[in-house]
Amino acid sequence: MPSTPRSTRSRTKNPGSQSALRHLNQQRIIECLLNGPSTQAELARQTGLSTATVSNIVKIMQDAGLASTEPITSSGRRALNVRLNSNGAVAVGIDFGRRHLRVVLATLSYHIIAEESVLLPLGHHSDEGIRAAVDLLAKLLDESGVERSAVVGAGVGIPGPIDRRTGTVAQGAILPEWVGINILQHLEDTLNFPVFVDNDANLGALSEVTWGPHSGISNLMFMKIGSGIGAGLILNGAPYYGNVGITGEIGHATIHEHGLICRCGNRGCLETIASTTTMIELLGRGEEKPLSAEDIVRKALERDSATLRVVDDAGLAVGRALGNVANLINPEVIVVGGPLAGLGDLLLDPIRRGLVRHAVPVIGETTKLTMSSLGDRAEALGAAALVFQHAGIRRS
Ligand SMILES: [Zn+2]
Repeated sequence: MPSTPRSTRSRTKNPGSQSALRHLNQQRIIECLLNGPSTQAELARQTGLSTATVSNIVKIMQDAGLASTEPITSSGRRALNVRLNSNGAVAVGIDFGRRHLRVVLATLSYHIIAEESVLLPLGHHSDEGIRAAVDLLAKLLDESGVERSAVVGAGVGIPGPIDRRTGTVAQGAILPEWVGINILQHLEDTLNFPVFVDNDANLGALSEVTWGPHSGISNLMFMKIGSGIGAGLILNGAPYYGNVGITGEIGHATIHEHGLICRCGNRGCLETIASTTTMIELLGRGEEKPLSAEDIVRKALERDSATLRVVDDAGLAVGRALGNVANLINPEVIVVGGPLAGLGDLLLDPIRRGLVRHAVPVIGETTKLTMSSLGDRAEALGAAALVFQHAGIRRS
């Protein structure tokens, strides 16, 4: 499993107090257990804690329903194997968008306990987004009666590339105010439990094979069409992260060499034709109020001819870009997510035409193309799944 960027700094605000120290030690043990079951002796070795301290904390975690133990024989000696308890332990999924925040709580047995989204102001700074996430998480924990100590980790989705070497939001994010922020460090310091950060399209892909109808699929591409366009890949059954984690930047595939200037500085990128930002600009001329992505879906379903044309052009361009990618990686399924999912075949048909035209025949014919059934929940659910993935817990 590729590693996800993690902070190594202390996460306790008052390291001097006994309870803060115990909390910190418990988190260290949970971090080890997120990589799979382990013996108490191995936990002591990995954390540097004494075996007595490990034994005490494991007992407390057992009493709280967070962990369970079983006697095993390790290297010819009797040992106690410790694993996180899938019913008692809770994973958090947080999805930040340009204008929204969604938080979900799920048990490690894949049961969703709570879920809520709120609007964020356009152009919000990372501090504001993080504060809103902390508040919403506290509200959901409170309402669902989940103790904070039951949270084993949080997955976080950001609509932009994440440099996995550092956990920093890289240039090109749809939230320009967040670029250069070490989102991982900020969140770990604030939340006081392990945090895993990933790009939202990667989480969409993980969500489809975890929560969606594609659980048996080893080669899947998730394409998010929103204010920006990005793709997440599952290859040979695992998320694909490339060298530094910046993959799936298909929104910047050149479609028209002399096309419009893109926010990346290039010309004629896919985003300048098929992002909701472009569609809203094209269709919003002459409108009194700025359009939303929901307006585009509504107008297309009402058969507004200009909207249908813009959607068709966008779909063809997306299909062309997908054809090139499909030729390279031969996915079994391509899932389209984002706020235009309500367009259904109005968007899928031109994408399919573009794909079939630009992929080699056998790939064009055999690649399944579908809308995401998870809607705007895909990324937050994928964020929670990131914690399951680190805990080595698969859905049964
Ligand atoms: Zn571009």
